[in-house]
Amino acid sequence: MSTKEILSKLKPVTLSLDEKLISKDLKDAIPHLKKAMDALNRIYLKQQDEKLPELYDKTMQGTDETLKDFFRAFNGPWNTLENYVSILPETENRRPGCSFYPEDFDKKDFEKFTSTLSKADQDRFLDHYTVVRKKAPGAYEAIPYHKYYEKDLKVLASHLEKASEIIKHPELKEFLKERAATLLTGDYRTSDSTWVKLKKTPLELIMGPFEVYDDAALGIKASYESMLMVVDQEKGAALSTIEQNIKHLADYIPLPHGSKAAVGGLAPITVVHEIYGTGEAAAGINASAFNLPNDPWVRKNVGWKQVMIYNIMQAKFENCTRRIAQKLVEGGDETRFESYFFTVLLHEVSHGLGPAYRQNGEPVSKCMGPQYTPVEEAKADIGALYILLKCGDQYGIPRFAPEVLLKSFLAGLFRSIRFGLHEAHGAANIVQFNWFMEHGTIEVKSDGRFVAKPHGLEKTTYELLEKLATLEASATPEEAKAFLERYAKPTPVIEKAIASLSDIPVDIRVTWPDL
Ligand SMILES: [Zn+2]
Repeated sequence: MSTKEILSKLKPVTLSLDEKLISKDLKDAIPHLKKAMDALNRIYLKQQDEKLPELYDKTMQGTDETLKDFFRAFNGPWNTLENYVSILPETENRRPGCSFYPEDFDKKDFEKFTSTLSKADQDRFLDHYTVVRKKAPGAYEAIPYHKYYEKDLKVLASHLEKASEIIKHPELKEFLKERAATLLTGDYRTSDSTWVKLKKTPLELIMGPFEVYDDAALGIKASYESMLMVVDQEKGAALSTIEQNIKHLADYIPLPHGSKAAVGGLAPITVVHEIYGTGEAAAGINASAFNLPNDPWVRKNVGWKQVMIYNIMQAKFENCTRRIAQKLVEGGDETRFESYFFTVLLHEVSHGLGPAYRQNGEPVSKCMGPQYTPVEEAKADIGALYILLKCGDQYGIPRFAPEVLLKSFLAGLFRSIRFGLHEAHGAANIVQFNWFMEHGTIEVKSDGRFVAKPHGLEKTTYELLEKLATLEASATPEEAKAFLERYAKPTPVIEKAIASLSDIPVDIRVTWPDL
């Protein structure tokens, strides 16, 4: 596929911001925050490949505008939508271990080496926040990120400190200072905990190494990423009623066979508008929502924050989901962003409800093998739909007509299935589609379009929810596999529908607001 063709799958969107949401001091601090985030981006490029910063600069100083657009969207020469294939003939495809490991990384040789080490030494090599380098054949060293990237981190910290001098909001000011300090010492846990506890700040900033998706070699090394977001207090306030009622929502998700839900502190929900992103957060698809930090200690002892990125979600809905609904669903014009927003929100909430532990105390995630993720994703989707059907006008949840819900839901299913028929989220969506087809909730017309039949929707939805919860509570990996083999199969109807969407963008690529 040519560079132009890959770019054409992502609709360019220029984001804007209602400046009433930011005060003068914040406006003055934003350029410093962006400089700190640009320093972080240098680290991210080095994590991908040590030579990437140089290639990045050369490209941006060049005259090939298509190539520049590609680098802006993907943060490098690799197509993140398709196995990190390089678009440049002179650059190789991205290495599975990126630059987290030596260039000629041999997994077996590394595992042989670490197996000889003490537990404490092993932990340093398998830590999320160390770079692995070769000292001699068969011998390795582990260097903490804060040492390896110290020079860039010092630049980053100095800009964060400047921003904190300008910002008036006392907790945000302190948090920025603390984040700058902890990025330099590697004590992420302290400021991650502060971040979860931050309340009513006008800005949200995440900055540091978080997700391990880029490490396709061992899946343990975290990539640096940063997102700067303006908090929408008004939209957030509307959701605090939902937050306070999570206990009641939990009653709608079954706990079969003596299974137990997760206990512990509940996560605050924040609604934001993203105004800048760098690092892993700016390489390919922009997130619509996230849930951080990942550190199990912080999650257990402090909690986590659920952040909904309103402006990104809205742009994705208008440019992709709504167009899919118009093309594939009879009366698809009736889909509404609001119902889509609450579906995504309650999907995240539903991940925290239903079976987390089996009767014998084993975590559900450990009992089903690779079948767990598709089943859990389907449960979160179906849990969200069921809560929307049952709880409209209660607990802070608006009421939507079942027909509108089902149409938006269908369009959302196809939006996700497009990202891959054979991976976990794709499989989860196919399960739901096939279940609804089998139960007559969706009908297909001779022209391939779908008709939503909301009669009996509540019952059909509950039956699938109960089925998924039962699998989580008691199924062996083989039983879960048999269920997925039956329901997660892409049928000709699905394949035909996906093929008909070729002129609709898969996602968006953003130009940040001018601030
Ligand atoms: Zn999910």
